[in-house]
Amino acid sequence: MTTALPLLRDIFGYEGFRPGQGEIVDAVTAGENVLAIMPTGGGKSLCFQIPALLRDGITVVISPLIALMRDQVRALQQVGVNAGALTSANTDEETAAVWDAIEAGELKLLYMAPERLASTATTETLRRIGVNLIAVDEAHCVSQWGHDFRPDYLRIGALRRALNVPLAAFTATADQETQAEIIEKLFDAETPRSFLRGFDRPNIHLAFAAKDNPRRQILEFAQARKGQSGIVYCGSRAKTEGLAAALRDSGHSACHYHAAMDPDERRLVETRFAREDGLIVVATVAFGMGIDKPDIRWVAHADLSKSIESYYQEIGRAGRDGAPAETLTLYGPEDIRLRRTQIDEGLAPADRRAADHARLNALLGLAEALKCRRQVLLAYFGEDAEECGNCDLCNTPVDTFDGTTAVRKALSAILRTEEFYGSGHLIDILTGNATNRVKEKRHDDLSVFGCGKEYPKPQWQAIFRQMMGRDLVRPDPERHGALRMTEPAIAILRGENSILLRKDTIRSAQRRPAVKMLINEEDAPLLSALKAKRRALAEAQKVPAYVIFPDRTLIEMAEKRPNDLDDMARISGVGAKKLERYGAAFLEVITGEAKTLHPARRKLAGRGSAELYDALLEVQARLQHGECGTLKPLSCSAAILAKIAQLRTDDESSLNRLLGERRAERFARAFLDVLRGAG
Ligand code: ADP
Ligand code: ZN
Repeated sequence: MTTALPLLRDIFGYEGFRPGQGEIVDAVTAGENVLAIMPTGGGKSLCFQIPALLRDGITVVISPLIALMRDQVRALQQVGVNAGALTSANTDEETAAVWDAIEAGELKLLYMAPERLASTATTETLRRIGVNLIAVDEAHCVSQWGHDFRPDYLRIGALRRALNVPLAAFTATADQETQAEIIEKLFDAETPRSFLRGFDRPNIHLAFAAKDNPRRQILEFAQARKGQSGIVYCGSRAKTEGLAAALRDSGHSACHYHAAMDPDERRLVETRFAREDGLIVVATVAFGMGIDKPDIRWVAHADLSKSIESYYQEIGRAGRDGAPAETLTLYGPEDIRLRRTQIDEGLAPADRRAADHARLNALLGLAEALKCRRQVLLAYFGEDAEECGNCDLCNTPVDTFDGTTAVRKALSAILRTEEFYGSGHLIDILTGNATNRVKEKRHDDLSVFGCGKEYPKPQWQAIFRQMMGRDLVRPDPERHGALRMTEPAIAILRGENSILLRKDTIRSAQRRPAVKMLINEEDAPLLSALKAKRRALAEAQKVPAYVIFPDRTLIEMAEKRPNDLDDMARISGVGAKKLERYGAAFLEVITGEAKTLHPARRKLAGRGSAELYDALLEVQARLQHGECGTLKPLSCSAAILAKIAQLRTDDESSLNRLLGERRAERFARAFLDVLRGAG
């Protein structure tokens, strides 16, 4: 495909496609049915936006959230693409403008919430206005198993059948079940061309820590990243409020978010988060799909997620712009107990519960990993990887020890007490702590009493946590969390298997390596100034800051310090429209002076024709008074020069026509030299 790349450069200002994007764009443009699974931040939007521009007619985009649609539409309008949304949040003027654009045959992308599809008139309308491609964002919303299920998504299949146009579905959700459901519901089980783009997000630093003092751990983590936008995920609503208050007390800008807040309050947090730099949102998992902010710099989990998929999705919200981002996940035995109980007490059928336990186990395996976390994470998604160098275990390898004897002692204690107790009591027995309860139950008479004195209590807690994490023991919901052994434990108890454990993992956040700076110290003040300019522009237009430019673009500006608009145009993320709109304003911040260029020249900035234009301008200035320097002054309009530069008009007669007789006489020969020399 030859046409996609120039669009990517001129409109979106990007040098090349990200891995996978190019092939998807080609397939969608060619009208194939496509299912693309790409990690968050992989750049899904471009995969339907560019085909929409390359194809005739209108592309309808089904997207689950109004806020998300509005942001995308604004971002498209910023780069000069004719896009609109029909949503319940539109003003009458907005709706009228969308219809005008449709009637004028100018609209290329029409965003729509799935609810609209409930009306049969919608299908007719879409047919009438010439929709010839359906793009489905967040396609996993069609899956009833997922937590994002949207019943109206089920209508999309019928829409596709009715319009008989190709459909491209996009999601970041990895698991097989969801993929199968998407294919069944959206494509009538006819397998589409599928693209599975690797799951690695190499810019996201992975780290886990055993819960010690979770509030302090989170505060320390946030402190080291002050001023950066971040999310803290919590297991309960009450906790979000408490932690947000604690963060504010330590001088952060922070607010809480959960599903029990009223919709207006929630929307306010979403908008603030999108617009403000450096806001921290402390939230339950309800804070998720509505956020489309590419420059979230960190995600911390104050409580463990419910599965490895959820974990991956939640941390994946960080660093979508590709710049470094950091994560920290805290976990402890109480998390494991809580998650197991939730699964066991849930209403799902037995096979589903078993699958949920397995997904939780995969996450616990990641938490208790002994080597590179990214390898473990990617292995779950079926990918091989080298050691990543960007996770806590690569940074600081853990000490391990042969835990077989310790685990066997613990298992014996469980067995001798008939699988009736939780870890606290079991540890008392192992360490020979004759509490009242121990005496009452006469557990001090057991052979295992005091058999584990070689480890202090915290060490035993870490051993029990790892045993739970490795699924050797599970809390029994019917016995108030008493620990029961699983199959794999029996092999260890019998001495058929050995087990390697981590030495304690309780390590404070303080001892983690210092924060990676986004930018070196020297450029930091400039970055702040650029961000301030961005904020002012964003506020004036009431759009999120990243709609003007993402962090990554500002970072590149601060590092490369473009001198003029031509340099500016070479910064990734600066397309033609944005250069025209904002280039001069940001350049002024960088160079400290206002640079004005004729608009006709500005349009050429960063392209080959700009150099030609400049050369023509020079020649013209030299010949202003003719070769002899005594003639009446004469010059060409900027528009004409731009046209000549752009068309590279190097045959004499066309050039003469463009210039007109008088100017041709003075400039044509010299211009031709320039144009032919540039050939
Ligand atoms: P997704 O929907 O897959 O999470 P987006 O489409 O929102 O991701 O893209 C994430 C970010 O990456 C956006 O800021 C986008 O502008 C940027 N991006 C996408 N494609 C490219 C590319 N080819 N080069 C540079 N940046 C890109
Ligand atoms: Zn690693």
